Amino acid sequence: MRIDLHTHSSVSDGTDTPAELVAAAAAAGLDVVALTDHDTSDGWVAAAAERPPGLTLVPGMELSCRWIPPDTPPISVHLLAYLFDPDHPGLLAERARLRAERLTRGERFVGNLAAAGYPVAWDRIVAASAGGVVGRPHVARALVQAGVVPSVDEAFATLLHPRSPHYVSKADTDVREGIALVRAAGGVPVFAHGLARKRGRVVGDDAIGVMVEAGLLGLEVDHPDHTDAEREHLRGLAAELGLLVTGSSDYHGSNKTTPIGACTTDPGQFEALLAAGTGSAPYRG
Ligand code: AMP
Ligand code: FE
Ligand code: FE
Ligand code: ZN
Repeated sequence: MRIDLHTHSSVSDGTDTPAELVAAAAAAGLDVVALTDHDTSDGWVAAAAERPPGLTLVPGMELSCRWIPPDTPPISVHLLAYLFDPDHPGLLAERARLRAERLTRGERFVGNLAAAGYPVAWDRIVAASAGGVVGRPHVARALVQAGVVPSVDEAFATLLHPRSPHYVSKADTDVREGIALVRAAGGVPVFAHGLARKRGRVVGDDAIGVMVEAGLLGLEVDHPDHTDAEREHLRGLAAELGLLVTGSSDYHGSNKTTPIGACTTDPGQFEALLAAGTGSAPYRG
């Protein structure tokens, strides 16, 4: 059994349509794939309709959250949510708020870049996103196309990094509230790439403890952005706190170099995750 529990389609900031994504999952020899677009469940229906026989599709989402420390600026925390009820009103309202927030933030961010002389235009970036949930990868592609940077990776390491003078943050959901909403919707909340330091500041074990008190059920341990030492630390923490352990690629099509299935989840952990989710069912058979 090969199980990848974190992927993005063009419904957010991946480049494969949901149909292409499930085809890529089957072609890569996966048995199970979760679709976890940012702040939306809009890709579920198309992915399920196009699902190749034998591939199990787990409905999911990656909710944009933040941890607010007492004395320093908020730290971005991505919360994977599986098997939640897509019609739960509280969670539905919160992801709509986050998508609106992305539009305001994106326009300001691109405005900063344009004011600094970089040839990027918000209207064109929105048009290129084709109705998907807009994020920094869309801005990165525009910067690459304009010849400002050689690659999406380079854009993230420089102009789009949280330390960039042009950076604009967004009002992401307080992670405790995000966890509570996912649980209220019958979903399984899993902390995504919790120690991925190259993306910016990461939270300490104390924050993970608070997240567990709020109802967190798992940690994404095996992720391309984690070193071996970071994985071992998270694995130890999961054992100590009684949390599920997942592994996944965080596939974004050609917006990243990571292939689908690059990291995978243990079948026993997957079964436990399925047992914990009550808001929606996997598409299988
Ligand atoms: P945003 O949600 O707009 O702040 O953008 C963050 C998104 O950018 C996340 O979905 C990441 O997966 C993606 N991302 C982070 N680093 C990179 C990178 N080096 N290349 C491509 N995408 C990235
Ligand atoms: Fe992304
Ligand atoms: Fe993420
Ligand atoms: Zn992701």
